[in-house]
Amino acid sequence: MEALHAIGVDLGGTKILAGVVTRDGSVLRRHERATPQDSQEHVMAELEAAVTELLDDSVGAIGFGVPSPIDQARGVVVRCVNLPLENAPLRDHMHERFDLPVGLDNDANAAAIGEWRAGAARGVDDLVMLTLGTGVGGGVVSGGVAFRGRNGEGGELGHVTIVYDGRPCQGACHGRGHLEAYASGHAASEAAREAFGPSADAHRLIRLANEGDAHAKQILAELAGYLGSGIGSFVNVFAPELVLLGGGFGIAAFDYLAGPAEEIARREALEPMRSAFRLAKAELGTAAGLIGAAFVGFEALDAA
Ligand SMILES: [Zn+2]
Repeated sequence: MEALHAIGVDLGGTKILAGVVTRDGSVLRRHERATPQDSQEHVMAELEAAVTELLDDSVGAIGFGVPSPIDQARGVVVRCVNLPLENAPLRDHMHERFDLPVGLDNDANAAAIGEWRAGAARGVDDLVMLTLGTGVGGGVVSGGVAFRGRNGEGGELGHVTIVYDGRPCQGACHGRGHLEAYASGHAASEAAREAFGPSADAHRLIRLANEGDAHAKQILAELAGYLGSGIGSFVNVFAPELVLLGGGFGIAAFDYLAGPAEEIARREALEPMRSAFRLAKAELGTAAGLIGAAFVGFEALDAA
């Protein structure tokens, strides 16, 4: 019998978002719980609990989107930058626990797949998606195929260098001057604290901008400039038809980021790519990751 539904699980820096998803990308039921920050065992247990919460007889596969490079051959989460998860055999663990086909992907790849299958990028075969949340994730669909690099480990667009020897990157990343250090929600929170005091964060920054605060708008525009430099480079490399901004911060701040980011991206990109791409907001909101993860689950099911 063909399985009707897959459970998609999106592991974020602060929340685990899960849902039961149909083959056409509709989300039937959702579940949300906090992401533990203390240990790998705890993160694995909460991922398992999220699946258990949603599991019924209609579910034939499970997919996970995780903010880490994925070793697809072994089904292992290599190392999360912002969470205590390293060398974690997630695929085998969940397969043994639930006896269903399990697919794994990077969370931003999953978000791009979600938008491609069921969101703003339906019918678009060349897509670059950036998810701006705690970090900056990247997902690419190139020529109608999800781009993953060797053994599924690539596509880490948030960790391209945009400033040589620039700001240190976050968490477990040892690099400097990476896009993530300049254009993530975390970077926005840092800038907000510097400008508006220790209790300010990215949410407050956007709220102040919404209230017309010029300084807040200027901080967001500056952040958008860095984002645009990254986008210009991605446009030169991938020649996308569509560049999507998603993730919690990317969606909330879209109106402040899109204009300046697009201006800089078009300055940096070469013709004919610079005239050919559109910049748009992800349509599935923060559900893109879980929907895409479910499609990664369906992929595992169909390959089984
Ligand atoms: Zn980095």
